[in-house]
Amino acid sequence: MFVLEPQHVHMNQSAKDKAEALECLANILVQDQLVKADYLSGLHAREAQSATYLGQGIAIPHGTPQSREFILETGIRLAHFPKGVVWDGENTVYLAVVIAAKSDEHLQVLQILTRALSQDVSDQVQHAKNAAQIIEILQAQPETLVLHENLIETQIQVTDIDDFLWSANKLLKQQKLVEAGFISQLDPKNLIQIQDTLWSISAKNYVSQSAVSIVKADQTIDFKNGQIQTLICIAQHEQLDYQQLQRLLDLLFQPQIQQQLNDQHNRQDIAKLVGAETIPDWPSQRIVLANAHGLHARPATQLVNITKTYQGEIRVAVDDGQFISAKSLTKLLAMGCKYGQTLTFIAEPDTDAVEGLSKIIQAVQQGLGEEVEAIEHKIDSQQTNTLEFEEEITTPTTGIPASTGLAFGPAHVIKPKHFQYERFGNNVKAEKEKLEIALHSVKNTLHQLIAKTEANEIKQIFMAHLEMLDDPDLIQQVHQSLNQNLSAPAAWHQYIEKAAQAQAALPDRLLAERAADLRDIGDKVLAVLCNEVAAQEPEQPYILIMHDVGPSDVARLNKDRVAGILTAVGGASAHSAIVARALGIPAIVGASDAVLNITPHTTVLINGDTGAFEINPSQAQIDDAIQERELQQQRRHEAEQHCHEPAITLDQHQVEVAANLGKILDTEKAVNYGAEAIGLLRTELVFMAHRQAPDEDVQEKEYRHVLDTLAGRPLVVRTLDVGGDKPLPYLPIDAEENPFLGVRGIRLTLRKPQLLRQQLTALVRAADDRPLRIMFPMVGRIEEWRAAKAILDEVLLKHPCPNLEVGIMIEVPSAALIAPLLAKEVDFFSIGTNDLTQYTLAIDRGHPVLSGEADGLHPSILMLIDQTVRAAHAQQKWVGVCGELAADPKAVPVLLGLGVDELSMSASSIPLVKAQIRQLNFADCQQLAQQALKCESAFAVRSFVEQTHG
Ligand code: PEP
Ligand code: MG
Repeated sequence: MFVLEPQHVHMNQSAKDKAEALECLANILVQDQLVKADYLSGLHAREAQSATYLGQGIAIPHGTPQSREFILETGIRLAHFPKGVVWDGENTVYLAVVIAAKSDEHLQVLQILTRALSQDVSDQVQHAKNAAQIIEILQAQPETLVLHENLIETQIQVTDIDDFLWSANKLLKQQKLVEAGFISQLDPKNLIQIQDTLWSISAKNYVSQSAVSIVKADQTIDFKNGQIQTLICIAQHEQLDYQQLQRLLDLLFQPQIQQQLNDQHNRQDIAKLVGAETIPDWPSQRIVLANAHGLHARPATQLVNITKTYQGEIRVAVDDGQFISAKSLTKLLAMGCKYGQTLTFIAEPDTDAVEGLSKIIQAVQQGLGEEVEAIEHKIDSQQTNTLEFEEEITTPTTGIPASTGLAFGPAHVIKPKHFQYERFGNNVKAEKEKLEIALHSVKNTLHQLIAKTEANEIKQIFMAHLEMLDDPDLIQQVHQSLNQNLSAPAAWHQYIEKAAQAQAALPDRLLAERAADLRDIGDKVLAVLCNEVAAQEPEQPYILIMHDVGPSDVARLNKDRVAGILTAVGGASAHSAIVARALGIPAIVGASDAVLNITPHTTVLINGDTGAFEINPSQAQIDDAIQERELQQQRRHEAEQHCHEPAITLDQHQVEVAANLGKILDTEKAVNYGAEAIGLLRTELVFMAHRQAPDEDVQEKEYRHVLDTLAGRPLVVRTLDVGGDKPLPYLPIDAEENPFLGVRGIRLTLRKPQLLRQQLTALVRAADDRPLRIMFPMVGRIEEWRAAKAILDEVLLKHPCPNLEVGIMIEVPSAALIAPLLAKEVDFFSIGTNDLTQYTLAIDRGHPVLSGEADGLHPSILMLIDQTVRAAHAQQKWVGVCGELAADPKAVPVLLGLGVDELSMSASSIPLVKAQIRQLNFADCQQLAQQALKCESAFAVRSFVEQTHG
């Protein structure tokens, strides 16, 4: 963020012409070590393209993109020329703001300056006496309060005051009017009742621009001895024009406003009521800005030159923000539109501007005088890759092996859905017809599916979809939006999304789960409206090819239909891979976007052990694969025969072998595979199976089911580990630059103690006197462990739990390093090698390129495991490993040798790991581990294990 400081302003400069002024400016930048002397040529080159005069006696000289190589540090400096310098033949500059910006930071400067330019300040600038005055002139312009239709939302679903605050914050944040952190300023204690069910709250920190958002719920809820239905949320910057805010508040205090607000359900009507700017229902077109440095002065000037050739009004907004005149340079600059953001242009109906829209879009697409790589071109080039890819199809290709096994079948490629449509239609009747045709077509397909499907449950799903499409309320509501000139896809999407959100919020779980059906059927209609052809699911078991699969996607997969998974991105220890392993589906991840170009239905052969895959394999390759698979199956079959026997080495050392669990109903499967305990219940995956947070009773029931099924075997439960790559839709976390380093695991639940308390209560209530072990994830500091333990102790006062042990996951290197301290307080450790590897080697576990290098057998991680085990055993505490390393055949002897007491893994891996342990000699493993600790790399460890253990 640029901050204007007095020492950056050089007063009383003089120059006889622009060339001399540029030299003076370049010298200032050089003196302050912001640029090398060569930057001057860049300033000249830029002025030669078009003068940088901005208005009001101010110019903003800056270098061309090519001259950025001479910039040492990003910065701006101001030079005051009281006698003036003729800049572009007609305009005189009194203040030059010279910019050295390595990327698009200067858009911020433009935003500040354009506020000054909206006033007549040229005289003040010329006659300023000192630096402070200059800064005051530039910054003291009162800011206008942003209040427009897109900052209003109605019919929001709420259960408590937090939902109001969250929605109000979301509206402001989407429009970049507030920064992350603003929500923390919205303390329910500070809410002020304006009247009856109308309340307001205001905050001053983390505000980028003063603005007001308004959220109205579909019902009133009780709050502070009263009720609330509408919240006015004011983000108040210090430079705000208070009169404007005062006018809004005066209006809201008028007695009749309450009734009027109650009567309005539509955000446009509420916008009119409170004097907010509304979005005109004008013809519109959208385009994504492809200029690498955003809409800065030069392209913006070009744009204005085009828009001004039309008589009719033309307005533009960035990413659904406020519409401004597209003919005003200062306003365009003040928008600060960056690369990749969407510009929506609207044109005054019945004027020449409507025809102008296409020309404007074309000009923006062509870069407004700058060379751009159109964002659509990038998509085109991917399509070009298809051909190259097809030509290379005989070459085996590889990704990251994520779930063991060989699989082959026709490719079922699911590309990310990008529905593209105009927000507004040109003709209401035509849009209604389009919708009718699309609905008819989808209904026809559904009828065909119902006739073809044999399974009753699936038939019922399609019948429910048909019913949804026949709902008269749906048609009526979508027509209402069409009457307001929305295009058919926009109106349809708007309705479905709203209906799905309402459905998802229903307290009845089964009803809430129908939100997914609504979205599903909604997408089918939208696909027809947008002419998107849906991928046809092959009849026989197929290889599912996707950009990425989320854990919940995999969890919903039908194992009988999906023979294997191949994804463009992802890492072996990403949660999607873990779920694939749990389902026993062979998988390769991180195989690059090229896999999305595999022609649907082409045969693909994948090897989940090596990461190799083959498109259009020969019959001989398929035969080999079948033979290899049979061998693997035979080995597995033999191991399964003995899976209920303990894992004891040849020299009588026993290790507990447990299962990792993400689905309550899989407990039985785990026991059947020979699990001696559940070593890790990932409760966030259990939560993910619910459309809304399960309450204490639902949780208790589910935990009880696990303990019942375990019949006396221990259960190690990890408290919610949300965050990182495991978002929970109903537990929103503000967007973070580095989610894996952010509010995750215990850091999140300590900030939501009620959630933790509820989970702990459900757990201890379910335990009775059965062996329950509770552990906290992502502990990095002793304070976190103590805070979490204190909450548990509080719960235990009310619900004693006789057979309880309490521990922590060791997955942050700091926890491993302070293990000697922690071991005095905990009952056990469970080492999460997935995260421990990620954080030790600083490689994102889901990184498409690097995650293959994140090997948990790296000696640094072995040293941390060694240290943890020693610390625990010194206090007679036990240590488990529940990361993916626990089932890695090369890692098993090393972990045993380091003294790990328990290995916990996907249930399906248990029989083979137990079989392996029975072939090992513990004393040999101890020696092996000591050698491994001395190796220089993970590769060296693996080679060493290979040599000694085959
Ligand atoms: C781990 O980090 O190793 C672990 C077991 O936890 P998760 O994979 O769920 O993050
Ligand atoms: Mg973890």
